[in-house]
Amino acid sequence: MEIFRLVDRHPESIFSKAGFYQRMMALSMKDEAFKVQMFRFVDVLASLKKPHDIVQHLDEYFATMQNTFTPLLQTGIRVAKIFPWLTAPILRWNVSGMARQFISGRNPDDALKTLRKGRKNRIGFTVDLLGEAVVSEEEAEEYGMRCLQLLEGLAAQTKDWTDPLGKNAELFPVVNVSVKISALYSQMSPTDPGDAIAHLAPKLRPILRRAQEVGAFINFDMESYAHKNCTLALFKSLFTEDEFKNWPHAGIVVQAYLRDAERDLRDLIDWGRRRGTRFTVRLVKGAYWDYERIKAAQNGWSVPVWQQKPESDANFETCTRVLLENEEIVTAAFGSHNVRSIAHAQALAEEMGIDKSRFEFQLLYGMAGPIKRALVEMGYRVREYCPVGELLPGMAYLVRRLLENTSNEGFLRAKFSDNASAAQLLRDPNTLIAKRTTEVSTIGPDWERDGRRIEPDGSAEGHGRNGHSRETPPGDSYENAPLVNFVHQQSQDQMERALRDVRAGFGRQYPLVINGEKISTGKWMASLNPSNPSMVVGSVAEAGIPEAEMAVKAARDAFEHWCRVSIDHRAQLLERVAAVMDRRRFELSAVEVYEEGKAWAEADGDIREAIDFLLFYAQQMRILGRPQLTQHVLGEESYQHYWPRGVALVVAPWNFPIAILTGMVSAAIVTGNTVIMKPAEPSSVTGALLMEMFEEAGVPPGVLNYLPGHGSVVGQHLVDHPEVVMIAFTGSREVGLRIWETAGKTRPGQRELKRVVCEMGGKNAIIVDSDADLDETIVDTVYSAFGYQGQKCSACSRLIVLEENYDRVVERLIAATASLRTGNPEEPGITVGPVIDEKSYRRIKERIEHGKTEATLAYQATNIPATGYFIPPTIFTDVKPDGRLAQEEIFGPVLSVIKVRDLDEAIAVANGTEYALTAGFFSRSPANIERVKAELEAGNVYINRSCTGAVVGRHPFGGFKMSGGGTKAGGSDYLLNFIVPRVVTENIMRHGFAPETTPRHRDEFGSTPVMNNAVARR
Ligand SMILES: Cc1cc2nc3c(=O)[nH]c(=O)nc-3n(C[C@H](O)[C@H](O)[C@H](O)COP(=O)(O)OP(=O)(O)OC[C@H]3O[C@@H](n4cnc5c(N)ncnc54)[C@H](O)[C@@H]3O)c2cc1C
Repeated sequence: MEIFRLVDRHPESIFSKAGFYQRMMALSMKDEAFKVQMFRFVDVLASLKKPHDIVQHLDEYFATMQNTFTPLLQTGIRVAKIFPWLTAPILRWNVSGMARQFISGRNPDDALKTLRKGRKNRIGFTVDLLGEAVVSEEEAEEYGMRCLQLLEGLAAQTKDWTDPLGKNAELFPVVNVSVKISALYSQMSPTDPGDAIAHLAPKLRPILRRAQEVGAFINFDMESYAHKNCTLALFKSLFTEDEFKNWPHAGIVVQAYLRDAERDLRDLIDWGRRRGTRFTVRLVKGAYWDYERIKAAQNGWSVPVWQQKPESDANFETCTRVLLENEEIVTAAFGSHNVRSIAHAQALAEEMGIDKSRFEFQLLYGMAGPIKRALVEMGYRVREYCPVGELLPGMAYLVRRLLENTSNEGFLRAKFSDNASAAQLLRDPNTLIAKRTTEVSTIGPDWERDGRRIEPDGSAEGHGRNGHSRETPPGDSYENAPLVNFVHQQSQDQMERALRDVRAGFGRQYPLVINGEKISTGKWMASLNPSNPSMVVGSVAEAGIPEAEMAVKAARDAFEHWCRVSIDHRAQLLERVAAVMDRRRFELSAVEVYEEGKAWAEADGDIREAIDFLLFYAQQMRILGRPQLTQHVLGEESYQHYWPRGVALVVAPWNFPIAILTGMVSAAIVTGNTVIMKPAEPSSVTGALLMEMFEEAGVPPGVLNYLPGHGSVVGQHLVDHPEVVMIAFTGSREVGLRIWETAGKTRPGQRELKRVVCEMGGKNAIIVDSDADLDETIVDTVYSAFGYQGQKCSACSRLIVLEENYDRVVERLIAATASLRTGNPEEPGITVGPVIDEKSYRRIKERIEHGKTEATLAYQATNIPATGYFIPPTIFTDVKPDGRLAQEEIFGPVLSVIKVRDLDEAIAVANGTEYALTAGFFSRSPANIERVKAELEAGNVYINRSCTGAVVGRHPFGGFKMSGGGTKAGGSDYLLNFIVPRVVTENIMRHGFAPETTPRHRDEFGSTPVMNNAVARR
């Protein structure tokens, strides 16, 4: 209450600057749609250079808005359009003003004015350097240098400053710098904390040494959950080193919004006791709450943050107690603007007899001035968190603050904008949790979207985990399998163990499987490790024509039974395979690391996709399989349903060795076909494991036959075979077109028109608009182009950049590519591994050599292993849109950059190839985004994200033109390719009498013990 009394004594705005900012905030709190557009506009503004562009964006973001202040807004936009040279600078100035509200200075010298003002008011500081997202080591080095300069500058300028309380000053150095750990190493990966520490420690040591010399304090800020464990491990490891072991001026942040917070805090305290030197913990709630929820929902992870605001508040109080109870080893810094959180800490400290001067309150610059003043007046230690930096890099920080200040849940809004009473604001959060779980509110705050309760997995009641209504068919009724979260040590350990076990089992021989029998042909094909080609992962029997004939007969015979089996029975088979796959998940990933050279997360993504295919197709078949009434008409009933086609040949590529093979096989099997499965030669061991899993799940003999061999021999023979009625193929254009052509010929004895599902390659382009967010563009482009060595059919191979941004994009792109970790993917955290085999290696090398004759080799990595099929990530610039580099698929880590004048030219270039698989666009112009959505020729168009990584059900995948026949793997209509439709009509009128209603669905025809027509037909 005392804080409120002091706060209310000087009635003041929540924000230190009024005017434009306050008006914007007030409007944002009134209107959610305005808020979204407003924050997006703020986000893009700093990157816009010309007045015309600013006004254009203003128009695009706000012109069509409908709300109470629409007329005012539209008049403003009309005026702005007439005088862009006048209005644009005013707008920019106003938004800069908003940023200046939260950013204490453009550079350290500038910030000193602010720090001096704080000092006058008895407020200390911690300075944080804002920067663009660090995408390369060059940028990381620069951040390290800036930290050192900052330390020097602050130390020199504050030499004569003394502690504001003059008591326990030795615990609280005047100079305090907050460091963003991820800004010091661009390749920080949660999969490989060891590597991160190995790179970060040498960069931090000079900073820590200098801090010791000048008597400063260094705090490790905490960022997203992905980096949390690594940051904690780094902190403990560095400050246990002899050099820093006895140094007490180090601190780290604990985020109370995390469910792990208390455990992490206790671990830190235990560590601190073992170390024997005091350290500091800044306790905060956390700045990435929305981000963590979205990330978790997208990847199927359990949400690491509390879902109810009072839970975060209560956890803050729990951690406050832990900190104060251990005051003899840890100094507490409470980072909050919430008077309840602050008052709780004060009351507890008082109760425990801890002097006010032994802990501090930290608050953000530009916020909650009255609270800071009140705390100072009460004799507490107050420190301001002062970000320093330019406007452009400051935008992400500004938007975070804007979100925080307008959040329905935030304390500051409740107190200063919504004028909630002190009694309400001081309620014990624990009582609020209890209350909220028993109440169902209809107008709820964020934690109860539209009155729906949030489930522990982050979904709302009645919603899929993917965030849409369960009523919305089809992809959304399916919940994707989660990815393995390599943030967790346990996942890392499981993967390490699997790699060891798989390696120990190298050399196994896998026979053919035909009609449920294992058949060895005496000829073995060795499958090699592309990182180390002398290493044989395993060998598979090589099938020839006789075995191909045996397989056709087995599949043909099995079809007689399998086509009669109920849909549910077939769907259950897929579900059992998914369960086996899930159990063997790490083992399968490990095999892919060795056999296909996949990085850990890429391999896991492949297994996740395979599980998704199995479960999604099982579910889809249950929906599709029931005969469905075509039309309500009295006296007659007509039902459409589907028959399987017969024997399907599945020819799969090696690049998604489990996922694509599983997708095609499971689609064929669940629809009632029988299958001859021919994996690609370089991934035949992985194919054998899929066979094993189907066998374990109880696939009947002959329904699935495993037939590895050479495509030109068994593959061609089966494509031509009169009894193979459909071919599901994914692979190269050369083979795909041959299959397409030969399948079109009718051969003697053939009784069906062959159906071909044909998915081929791409020459995928990403366009970078002049207003694109380059932090995202660079990270996502590098991943799209070089993830799995560019060997995804969806990979980006052309980057089309509007000339305004060209130089900066190329500069950052090259630096980011140069920072990638290339090496044996057995090591965690590797991004670029080897290409699949010697043939690919030679072909790509030849293409690079040729590329040098038609474009500029702008970058080629040199730090690649000497053995293995490693191709260095390579970037060409000055690429001609119609040259070979820009037209022909390379399927390797080679990116061609093309400069264009404007969006018209960019779209023409992007569409100017024979392919249409994936395409990407980075832009913050709503009009340009709409245009690209309408005009880009690609089966999968991605806006403001990478162009790889399609998720089953969410992003049905496949292209057209020379990329494929227009089928969509993982989409609701994919199964239709494997079946033929049939309609059965019955006159149900007898002597003028007919039932009034006919059900929408009926049971499967022939699902009764009566022999089904399908068999009679064939
Ligand atoms: C000096 C200082 C340094 C900071 N450093 C960091 C840092 O290094 N890393 C970092 O992540 N954060 C940091 N923060 C915290 C962050 O930036 C926010 O300012 C802080 O979380 C706001 O909390 P509050 O107690 O002031 O406000 P309150 O309004 O009481 O709490 C708001 C917070 O509650 C949480 N929340 C919101 N909605 C929900 C919900 N539905 N369920 C559960 N929780 C919810 C969020 O964390 C949100 O930020 C720092 C804050 C300060 C003051």
